[in-house]
Amino acid sequence: MSARPLHPGERAARRAREHWGLAQTQPVRDLLEVAEDREQVPVLIERFDNDRIAGVLLKHGSGESFVAVNADHNPVRQRFTLAHELGHLCMGHQPRVELSSDLFGATRDPQEVEANYFAAELLAPRAAITGWLENQELIADAAAPDTAARLALEFGIAFPAAVYRLERVGAIGPTAKQRLIDELSNRAATLVGRHAPHRLRDTIQTLAEDDRYPRVPKRTLLYASEARAADLLDEQEYEAIVAEQPAVNSADWVS
Ligand SMILES: [Zn+2]
Repeated sequence: MSARPLHPGERAARRAREHWGLAQTQPVRDLLEVAEDREQVPVLIERFDNDRIAGVLLKHGSGESFVAVNADHNPVRQRFTLAHELGHLCMGHQPRVELSSDLFGATRDPQEVEANYFAAELLAPRAAITGWLENQELIADAAAPDTAARLALEFGIAFPAAVYRLERVGAIGPTAKQRLIDELSNRAATLVGRHAPHRLRDTIQTLAEDDRYPRVPKRTLLYASEARAADLLDEQEYEAIVAEQPAVNSADWVS
């Protein structure tokens, strides 16, 4: 089995990681921190009350961008949506409303495909997967459901995504891929339970567990405190904006 050729979306994700100062050999520890502090794009996470839309990417005439992620989706999907939007941004694609079917189903739209490959490589870089298999001494067990499940939880990606990544690095072949996807789907609850201690615990995960939505962009909180200092907001208005907003994890958690 050999690795698949790099897709242009994967190549763009590698360049973006370099630009952001992220090692290619690690999962993204906190994607919100990458988006807001490194890419300087504000991110709103809010319930859309419509799970057919995964997110929204807006661009202002000034060149500023804005991303909204649907909190109706679980943290794994939210993370993928945000990574996908960063892909559109980094590859100079047009703003859009994102249909869930383009991110989590089969899409033929070339820009959506590119953004999906970008998201996959950003969240689970090939070098990180092969390094992880070596470190965990799991190369011989790459086709085991437990390996794929643990990989998915540690990198914060969906089970099928973990299987596709294992195939792209050449750790498993096409036959094992299909079998694994079926087995993971049938035994999902057991496997998640068994490997739960390895689950990636980033801000997106914490917000979902505590149901703290809307999660307003960090920049909005900054504007709010400036407005409070200038007496444009009274204490009550200010509290309504900043209440319940957790601090974004510190930068040193991102490797
Ligand atoms: Zn898209």
